[in-house]
Amino acid sequence: MRRPFIAGNWKMNTTKAEGVALVKGVAEGNTAGDAVEVAVCAPSVYLDAVATAAAGKVGVGAQNCYHEASGAFTGEISAEMAKDIGCQYVILGHSERRHIFGESNSDVCKKVHSVLAAGLTPIVCVGELLEEREAGKTTDVVAEQMYGSLAGVTAEQMKSVVIAYEPVWAIGTGKVATPAQAEEVHAGIRALMTAKYGEAISESVRIQYGGSVKPDNAAELLSQPNIDGALVGGASLKADSFLGIIAGA
Ligand code: PGA
Repeated sequence: MRRPFIAGNWKMNTTKAEGVALVKGVAEGNTAGDAVEVAVCAPSVYLDAVATAAAGKVGVGAQNCYHEASGAFTGEISAEMAKDIGCQYVILGHSERRHIFGESNSDVCKKVHSVLAAGLTPIVCVGELLEEREAGKTTDVVAEQMYGSLAGVTAEQMKSVVIAYEPVWAIGTGKVATPAQAEEVHAGIRALMTAKYGEAISESVRIQYGGSVKPDNAAELLSQPNIDGALVGGASLKADSFLGIIAGA
């Protein structure tokens, strides 16, 4: 019922030529057709070239944006600009944005509203630090991030939102959450959405898992009932490994 959604987060990687070649390689090698939604989220300076090379065969997303549509905000890009050059998605509240750049839930929330207003799909990231998990605070942290980042989002708008659960201790570390660990949090996230938006909306929202997803662990993670896709960092930088993850969906 929920179409699997595999998105690559290239982070601050690739040259323009490498990014263009990578998206072409993904478009040409993807045999999943309509069964799987696929997107790549490139550095903002390459989005235009990557969107052109994707030629509508692969979705394209930005990795962040500012919440205003335009104006005196030196160095920022808006959701409107991402839309203008052909993006369909914007990743918001990635743990690197939260922890390196100090983004709060309220910052993320303003961005979510701007992305929805532009008619794009926000991929809203949540996830706990290792010390928070070890202190038994995973559920509380994820709930606070969910409610804080989605404040004011209506049930109708929620239909266009994608959630990504990314335990910070699993990002770029090779330490993937076990399918059971991930499923437990995904089920909790769905329960939070059900409480706020009702069952019909909650059952329609995709929840991606992110954190050291690779071709050899993707299928088992994605077979869990509440894991509806993946947000892939390192393994999205090679067409072969990203295609292997798509195949696992
Ligand atoms: P990773 O990154 O797959 O390299 O762990 C995931 C992410 O940060 O989105």
